[in-house]
Amino acid sequence: MTTLASIIVSIAEEMRTASERGGVANYIPPLARVDLNRFGMAVVGMDGETHTVGDAAVPFSVQSVSKVFSLSMAFNAMGEELWGRVRQEPSGSAFNSIIQLENEHGIPRNPFINAGAIVIADILVSRYGRENARTRLLDFLRPLVDDPASIDIDTDVARQERETGFRNMALANYMRTFGNIRNVVEDTLDFYFHQCALTMSCQQLAQVGTYLMTGGLNPLTGERVMSERNAQTILALMMMCGHYDGSGAFAIRVGLPGKSGVGGGILAIAPGVASIAVWSPGLNAQGNSLLGTRALERLVQYTGWSVFRAS
Ligand code: GLN
Repeated sequence: MTTLASIIVSIAEEMRTASERGGVANYIPPLARVDLNRFGMAVVGMDGETHTVGDAAVPFSVQSVSKVFSLSMAFNAMGEELWGRVRQEPSGSAFNSIIQLENEHGIPRNPFINAGAIVIADILVSRYGRENARTRLLDFLRPLVDDPASIDIDTDVARQERETGFRNMALANYMRTFGNIRNVVEDTLDFYFHQCALTMSCQQLAQVGTYLMTGGLNPLTGERVMSERNAQTILALMMMCGHYDGSGAFAIRVGLPGKSGVGGGILAIAPGVASIAVWSPGLNAQGNSLLGTRALERLVQYTGWSVFRAS
């Protein structure tokens, strides 16, 4: 019998010997110096059992995977009104593109491109204040894992994001001219840069993702994190927009809702089945983890977890 444990061990072995690995993000030193050979994977099932392989316990910069969690908080806070500030459509453009904002009057296509995530950050800063929004984000995440204290924000990464974040500043300032950024731009971006600097391991990320696997419940406490309907909306957005202009290819190859980050992490959800986190820092041309995507593709081939599978 092929068990999940043996499947992920053989995937990790395949990835260890892969010749093409992509390149690490190099816009800030803490990402540029990560070893390209790192690989970790964690899978949490509905029974709560966690399977891990490789560097699954090593913390890394989750970057844009954090956009799933900030979106969850803003959606919980604002409900459907949220979609007046950010749309629900794929962009077909790069993660940091500014191009659609002019014709669309400063309303980003979706909450996962940078412009959309900056609007979400603005909403959370309006609600909770610049510093308190960070605490709220950590408070949202920590009850979902069994080692809460170790989830944190790397303030050095956040500082370097700010020092190099000229494109994000341009996006925020541009949206402000349309009235879609409502706080002092520096305050909104300060929170955005801190959320990007969240540090988690695959093991933690897969555990955090369980509320999307269960239709909105925290399996550790039984508490409702969000409504089932909202969880479905977030999964649909992950499927359509979670990998930017690589989202179509990801949906076809993997067939699961997923969200990537330039740190090389991906969170993927098999609804009602599993929450999966994978980390390999080498990126493809769209800024998504190259081997992370391949590992998920293999996992779905072995398990049949694609949401598009008929039987
Ligand atoms: N910190 C990065 C940025 O804002 C996050 C982008 C990403 O992970 N795709 O540009």
